[in-house]
Amino acid sequence: AATPKPRGRLFFANPGPTNIPDSILLATAHHTVDFNDPSFSEVYWACMDGLKRVLKTRQEIFLYTGSGHAAWEACLANLFSPGEVLLVLESGHFSQSWARMATDLGIEVRTVPADWRRGVDMAALQAELAADKDHRIKAVGVVHNETSTGMMIPLPEVRAALDGAGHPALLLADTISSLGSLDFRMDEWGVDCAVGGSQKGLMLPTGMSFTGVSHKALQAHATSKLPKHYFHWSHMMKRPLKSFLGTVPTSLFFGLQESLRLIDEEGLENVFARHTRLARATRAAVQHWSGNNGPQLFCTNPGRFSDSVTAVLMPEGHDADAFRKVAMQRFNLSLGGGLGPLGGKLFRIGHLGDLNEPMILGTLATVELALKVSGVPYQPGGVDAALATLG
Ligand code: PLP
Repeated sequence: AATPKPRGRLFFANPGPTNIPDSILLATAHHTVDFNDPSFSEVYWACMDGLKRVLKTRQEIFLYTGSGHAAWEACLANLFSPGEVLLVLESGHFSQSWARMATDLGIEVRTVPADWRRGVDMAALQAELAADKDHRIKAVGVVHNETSTGMMIPLPEVRAALDGAGHPALLLADTISSLGSLDFRMDEWGVDCAVGGSQKGLMLPTGMSFTGVSHKALQAHATSKLPKHYFHWSHMMKRPLKSFLGTVPTSLFFGLQESLRLIDEEGLENVFARHTRLARATRAAVQHWSGNNGPQLFCTNPGRFSDSVTAVLMPEGHDADAFRKVAMQRFNLSLGGGLGPLGGKLFRIGHLGDLNEPMILGTLATVELALKVSGVPYQPGGVDAALATLG
């Protein structure tokens, strides 16, 4: 007989897109408005101000209809000329994908290599910058939170490496899975281009992305020669809304307005604290399961644990995708999979966005149940270990 369809609500624990609060869903269900109408401009500029508060910047923001990849491309195409050098800090699948995009765009990419479980050694970055005597490196690119491995790269350390070397390179930070979840301070940390998207910490549907852009980056943009049109910041600046060369996705702005209201109501620092609390509980469960040769934390560098996603490495001989299939088909629990070379080797628990204790405990209990029915070795009691960190 066919396997019965699981009942109950889909329990969504991917690291993005993330769960959308009902009030945001309702806000996006807005009738069509003219994006040139003054009543929409009010919503738009209030959203811009709110986004600046979340990015912690007083500088420029440009927005795009498109997922995070669009903002990645906007960042590169607006800053570089053909053959200029981008130094990428390797962190995992997303640092490598951004680097591949840069290569395809005609940028020369250098990489500071890193073990994906520990992250880059800042001394290696410093050495690379010190060796670049004629300042050929135009920008350093970092994925603040590497979603594929569950690792956070401390941006103040990257800033310190640049300053320590007296290197003028721009600092580009992918904040796609950190913004609105982990501490991020664009201006204080001297980030020149911050890349963000709608579908993670901002709890919105996928489809809108943006870049925070420093004055220094705007100067670099003025002389950049890579081809661009839809993403061209100078074209955007001539538009009444200073972004979007085409139709503005107005319903996403009504959603963003509600998202920013929710973040303001909770307080950004409380949002971060909640992510830290739920991440700690998640890691306690995984660390407990790892007994009896069970699954373990993929990230082995405690100073860099991500508070928005935990990647869980399966024991040798156990396929992570087969395990995820059990979680989904039997229990209606959706987990993230391994990306690139990590496919089948790990699964990922997203703990970012609209999330509370019952949701994370439900996820952890169901992961433990799925380990049990899948015959994966683990030490029972992970949920108790998570509970011990809470309350
Ligand atoms: N960078 C990071 C850190 C991500 O997590 C993702 C997507 O998960 C991307 C970039 C790509 O963004 P998108 O899938 O929205 O194009």
